[in-house]
Amino acid sequence: MHIDDTLKQDVINELEKRVSFRLKFPDELEKEFLDYYFVKMLPYIKFSLRFGLIIYFLFGLLDYLLYPNVVQLLWAIRYGVGSLFIVWALTQFEWVESDSALEFVQAFNLFVVGLSIIAMLSYLTFDETQKYYAGVMIVTFYIYVASGLRLKYSMAAGLMLALSYIIAAFTVLDTGNTYITNNVFFLASANVIGILSSALSERALRRDFLMSYFFYIQSIEVEKLNDQLMELSRTDELTHLANRRYFHEMAERSWSEMVGTDTPISLLMIDIDYFKLYNDMLGHQAGDRCLSMMGEILKGFERNRLDLAVRYGGEEFLLILSGATNDEALEIATRLKDRVFGMKIPHPGSGIADFVTVSIGVATLVPSDTNDISDLIKAADEALYRAKAAGRNCVVNAGDLSAVSEL
Ligand code: GH3
Ligand code: MG
Ligand code: MG
Repeated sequence: MHIDDTLKQDVINELEKRVSFRLKFPDELEKEFLDYYFVKMLPYIKFSLRFGLIIYFLFGLLDYLLYPNVVQLLWAIRYGVGSLFIVWALTQFEWVESDSALEFVQAFNLFVVGLSIIAMLSYLTFDETQKYYAGVMIVTFYIYVASGLRLKYSMAAGLMLALSYIIAAFTVLDTGNTYITNNVFFLASANVIGILSSALSERALRRDFLMSYFFYIQSIEVEKLNDQLMELSRTDELTHLANRRYFHEMAERSWSEMVGTDTPISLLMIDIDYFKLYNDMLGHQAGDRCLSMMGEILKGFERNRLDLAVRYGGEEFLLILSGATNDEALEIATRLKDRVFGMKIPHPGSGIADFVTVSIGVATLVPSDTNDISDLIKAADEALYRAKAAGRNCVVNAGDLSAVSEL
């Protein structure tokens, strides 16, 4: 995954801020934070809803113990409206896809639960409302410290509830002026303390996010560097083919995997003819260009992910054809030789043609416990030597060595 530089810089900037009361990151980073927040907090919000439902439900017992004469009315509100509303909120977690909508559901739910308590107060007499008023305080407390909401949502729910209580206290509730003053003071300070507490915990959550996001960015960068390093250590810089080291590593691994599968491996060893003279006549840079062209041609001869073109030495290449029979390999080698010639790369120093040519040795072997890749290389190398001796620009086939040893 790619992390763009501005995002990374934003993370570092935010981490460097020691004190910030602004609970908002730059846009891109804020989006990442919200993903983090929802993953982390939505399960908690759901838990908190269930937990809240239990507490709210159990308070029905207090309704019964304290106010038996109006208990039906209180229960109608508590169980008929409030609890049902919490259950409704819980079902939203199963259906609603949008994460921010669920955060809204939680805030709205807590506000409604608070309202239900105000509604209950309206059925109580002067003395009783003073006691049950504590319910509004508990919900306020819950909104700010246990709801899992971000500050703006908890603030919206908390302040709306406080406002609703004040309006109710002046209109429908039997409160009296002294108590109104008292209650408004307490409720207001509960909100102020709650806002502070909610802001602090959101800030801590944001810091957590920054830290883990910072580590995440770093691990991605390390991974990327690792891949690049791996790639570098495996490939030849000039031709971009696999290098000799990677070839041996790969060959040894796949050889042992293929033992017993009865699948042949064919190897082409390819060497450019009179390449020293090519360099001598056209210069080393032209030689390099020729080698890199040769790399492209060879790459085109890999048939699938198991085949591998390798720069084995200076102007010597291998093509490993996994699963190719000796006949197939011979056919491919011939095509490769013709393809190189067909490129018509001028070679003034060549003793046999006007263009660059290659000689190829071919060998095939079925991996078993008694042989290994070096047997195949040796056979292909000997075949290549014979191709040189036979006049170059040709293919010599060592055949299928396993077929020979079975005879
Ligand atoms: P033959 O037909 O027998 O293969 O003759 P040759 O000249 O191709 O063989 P030889 O092994 O004598 O020479 C190989 C040459 O390849 C020598 C060296 O200058 C050249 N060579 C090896 N690596 C590189 C390279 O990375 N870049 C360039 N430009 N030349 C290279
Ligand atoms: Mg050569
Ligand atoms: Mg050579």
